Amino acid sequence: MLREFELDMPGNLQETLARLPGGTLLAGGTNLLVDLRARREDAERLIWLGNIDGFRDIKIEDGRVIIGGGTTIGDLLRNPAMAEAAPSLVAAARVFGGQMVRNQATVAGNVCSGSPAADTVPPLLSLDAEVHLTCSTGSRTVPLNDFYTGFKTNQRKHDELVTGLSWAAPGPHTANLFYKLARRKGDAITVVGVAVTVTRDGDRCTEARIALGAVGPTVFRAKDAEAMLTGEPLADDLIDSAARKAMEESSPIDDLRASADYRRHCIHVLTRRLLKQAWEDAA
Ligand SMILES: Cc1cc2nc3c(=O)[nH]c(=O)nc-3n(C[C@H](O)[C@H](O)[C@H](O)COP(=O)(O)OP(=O)(O)OC[C@H]3O[C@@H](n4cnc5c(N)ncnc54)[C@H](O)[C@@H]3O)c2cc1C
Repeated sequence: MLREFELDMPGNLQETLARLPGGTLLAGGTNLLVDLRARREDAERLIWLGNIDGFRDIKIEDGRVIIGGGTTIGDLLRNPAMAEAAPSLVAAARVFGGQMVRNQATVAGNVCSGSPAADTVPPLLSLDAEVHLTCSTGSRTVPLNDFYTGFKTNQRKHDELVTGLSWAAPGPHTANLFYKLARRKGDAITVVGVAVTVTRDGDRCTEARIALGAVGPTVFRAKDAEAMLTGEPLADDLIDSAARKAMEESSPIDDLRASADYRRHCIHVLTRRLLKQAWEDAA
């Protein structure tokens, strides 16, 4: 049973920020209401984010993709520009929950929940996204790579709202891919999530980003593996070594979905597969 709560419905951004101290933000509610019902969370006053003007906008300005704090997973799928602006994020959106969840769940809610299995986070990390935060006294931007401080904890202060996320639109010789391994194709919690971005200039890789989900206390970038690839031609044996390094950087656990050993094996296989595909696609 849900305990009783007050539902605050501010009419705009200013009112939302003014009422934020002491309240709990409610976006799609697909995490929060489940957690409240299960008594994993407690909240007396929920602040609904559904009345903020333009909060679900998706824009591309000066080569930067900007999605509002209220953008839902379904919004990503319905926006034709996103296939090029964030292929990995669209791939994650396609396998995210079921249709009803995709219509309600927001990207910002997924990022703020901070689950290591949150499916939009590996793609966003692989795109080097930034988190935009606002409170009544000002705004700041935090690289997503620095946002998480531990298992389900992050840098957001209690009086801050995530107003959006942004990243540089991938250039012509950049490939960006995501794969979610789960026990079913839909409505299943991720066993291993891998997102990669590879940029190439002729025969050399100029930048590589590898983000891993569900194999550590937070989603994270396998930076040692990335460093092995930067500046190099991505021959098969180098890709294999980097994928192995990514596996070594992870710290998966045994749980009811998979053993740690199986997860490690899958990181190696999936990272290798995605890097190889991305290297070819970026040509
Ligand atoms: C049936 C089902 C299937 C699911 N499938 C998946 C899946 O496939 N992949 C996956 O990753 N997740 C999945 N989830 C989890 C959930 O849907 C996602 O994490 C979702 O993105 C959460 O977004 P929300 O808008 O519902 O957030 P809410 O539940 O409203 O909020 C979650 C948290 O974020 C905070 N918050 C929300 N918006 C903001 C903001 N703008 N600024 C600051 N804080 C904010 C809230 O205060 C709360 O603490 C599933 C959940 C269910 C119930």
